[in-house]
Amino acid sequence: MTTSIIGFPRIGEKRELKFKTEKYFRNEISEQELKDFAKDIRLKHWQLLKNSGIDNIPSNDFSFFDTTLDTAFLFNIVPKDNEELKLSKLDRYFALARGYQGEKGDIKALPMKKWFNTNYHYLVPQFSKDTDIKLTDTKIFDEFQEAKDAGITTRPVIVGPFTFLSLSEFNNTKPTDFVDDLVSIYQEVFQKLSDQGAEWIQLDEPELVKDVVGSDKELFKEIYQKLLKNKFGLKILIQTYFGDVRDVYDDLIKLPVEGIGLDFIEGRKTKELVKSGFPDDKILFAGIVNGKNIWRNHYQNSISLINSLNVKNIVLSTSCSLLHVPFTIENEDFPTKIKAHFAFAKEKLTELVELQAILEGSDKSVETQNDTLFKNARVTPNEKVAQAINNLTDDSFTRKPALEKRAEIQKNEFHLPLLPTTTIGSFPQTREVKKTRSKFRHNEISQEQYDSFIAGHIDQWLKWQEDIGLDILVHGEFERNDMVEYFGQNLDGYLFSKNGWVQSYGTRGVKPPIIWGDVSRIRPITVKWSKYAQSKTDKIVKGMLTGPVTILNWSFPREDISIKESTLQIALAIQEEVLDLEANGIRIIQIDEAALREKLPLRKTDWYSEYLDWAIPAFRLVHSKVKPETQIHTHMCYSEFTDIIPAIESMDADVISFEASRSNLEILDELQKQHFKLQVGPGVYDIHSPRIPSVEEITNTIHAILSKVPKEKVWINPDCGLKTRGITEAKASVENLTTAAKEVRKEL
Ligand code: GLN
Ligand code: ZN
Repeated sequence: MTTSIIGFPRIGEKRELKFKTEKYFRNEISEQELKDFAKDIRLKHWQLLKNSGIDNIPSNDFSFFDTTLDTAFLFNIVPKDNEELKLSKLDRYFALARGYQGEKGDIKALPMKKWFNTNYHYLVPQFSKDTDIKLTDTKIFDEFQEAKDAGITTRPVIVGPFTFLSLSEFNNTKPTDFVDDLVSIYQEVFQKLSDQGAEWIQLDEPELVKDVVGSDKELFKEIYQKLLKNKFGLKILIQTYFGDVRDVYDDLIKLPVEGIGLDFIEGRKTKELVKSGFPDDKILFAGIVNGKNIWRNHYQNSISLINSLNVKNIVLSTSCSLLHVPFTIENEDFPTKIKAHFAFAKEKLTELVELQAILEGSDKSVETQNDTLFKNARVTPNEKVAQAINNLTDDSFTRKPALEKRAEIQKNEFHLPLLPTTTIGSFPQTREVKKTRSKFRHNEISQEQYDSFIAGHIDQWLKWQEDIGLDILVHGEFERNDMVEYFGQNLDGYLFSKNGWVQSYGTRGVKPPIIWGDVSRIRPITVKWSKYAQSKTDKIVKGMLTGPVTILNWSFPREDISIKESTLQIALAIQEEVLDLEANGIRIIQIDEAALREKLPLRKTDWYSEYLDWAIPAFRLVHSKVKPETQIHTHMCYSEFTDIIPAIESMDADVISFEASRSNLEILDELQKQHFKLQVGPGVYDIHSPRIPSVEEITNTIHAILSKVPKEKVWINPDCGLKTRGITEAKASVENLTTAAKEVRKEL
């Protein structure tokens, strides 16, 4: 029995790749320097895997930004304007990821979407009539060669053709138009790798864990039937993750491939499927070590699972790429007793190797020692919290009066103009801001110094907001490192890593806190700065909170109680905060549910029963007790909720803002069709790119919105918070936004 992993965190132990890449973005280092650095980091990781005892090591799981983008770039699936950009190849690549605005042109970034049920984001490949599929990059081959030169024969990884087509967008074309071309190009890749001496290739096909029925299933079958006609001597691993493959299992095991990777952690039916029969001539890559959470593997369970399967050839693997967990626990300073419960990416390698040893009959002490972690209760339950949850009734989840009635009351309360303007909350987190927070954390400056720094920033930015004529102001979130960690720090039951970063998109990372025990609010969280900001202006300043579902989804959840239960605990804590803000004169409160969609089950059939039926009420619980005249906003960082519009509506917020500019306002047609009741701020420009939208561009977007949403219901705002932007571009963009809104207002 051997070991394998699906992929490894590429940003590096201390996020080295991020910092280097950002230096490159700032023109502080050359392209060559960045490339050399990337090469070193890849080598370091391969060697780490090898030295840890992992037998089957992947390559091409590295990326400068995103591996789906890498695949599109490899195959020349790029918009024409990018192909024609007179920039270096690497800069053209980055232009796809981040947009480009400079001497050589002005192009937008590709749309970005959440990667399945994770907080990782991929860039959405765009197919059009012009798409001319051909090999135009060499990354996958170069990286294989690099590893080979270092004495490691890797298994190159690439997004599989079915998943690739399923994730792409098609302008005036459809997936089936490209099957033949795509099949030939994958085969060309097989051939080249085979010539280079590769034995295996891993085709990532997470799309197979969704509902794969009807034409989707036909597409899958057609692709693989054609693709596997010629493998050029390569062994093929079809790797799935994030669930089970119940719709295609029978087809999958009949394919002429050598390996099939299945997820035993999130795949509720995987065990059952495998037990129904797995061919002797194939290898099962059994995903038994959780690639998504940070708790230690319970060896006894894994061993008995493997032993129960009755499969001849098994490779022990992770449930998904280790990209989704932090690098190592080594740099953390939790007490040893606590640390013992965690396994980050590097420690998961050890787990695989230890499991392998146990299965091969080595001495039992490792297994026994591991078992002690699970024998005794890890935490003592919080009785008060349990009581509060027990006491919840239907009323606890219902805000009164109904939305329409509240809208009237609030209209008289706020007297806002048509197309009220606002922002999503944060302003640029400059180096100065981050440094000052860090100095405060390390006791290098006093509370007073820190407070006056934050107050100074709030003052400046309030003034700017007043000057440019925004209608609803924000305080700017300068005191927050992160929209989840900041809350967690004021909640009992939470733990924080120092260096537990996980890639979110490109060079951006998140550091999910860990839910260790029962959650309750220790102290007011946001009241001080919200109150301060409100005291400084006659305009309304929005309170700014993170919602319970997002806090849960962006944390590493417990595995000893359900995520539903943890979410309700968090909801009660945030409810206290909402009421506190209201009591302190905050009249509009935004409760961000940026990550609501994240844990939406990948199978539609599970959406409500497994998730929305408790997640949406958890949100309602948070604001159910506020006064009718208090206006509740919510914000989502995406607009892919066409198919859960009733659920979004039943969150029962008064206003919702979301990202729509990057996805062509498509959601609005659907909102119109379904007579969506909430007021909406569809996001009039894309903040994920540094380019500054012109007044004209924004004006056009507003017109497009007005053609679909009644003017009384439209808010004008950027599509997300501005914390990742530089000051100049942030200000210029929002100024253009207010100018555009005022211009359009005149026409109404
Ligand atoms: N209020 C948050 C901000 O502006 C929202 C961030 C988000 O949606 N990711 O930063
Ligand atoms: Zn957002």
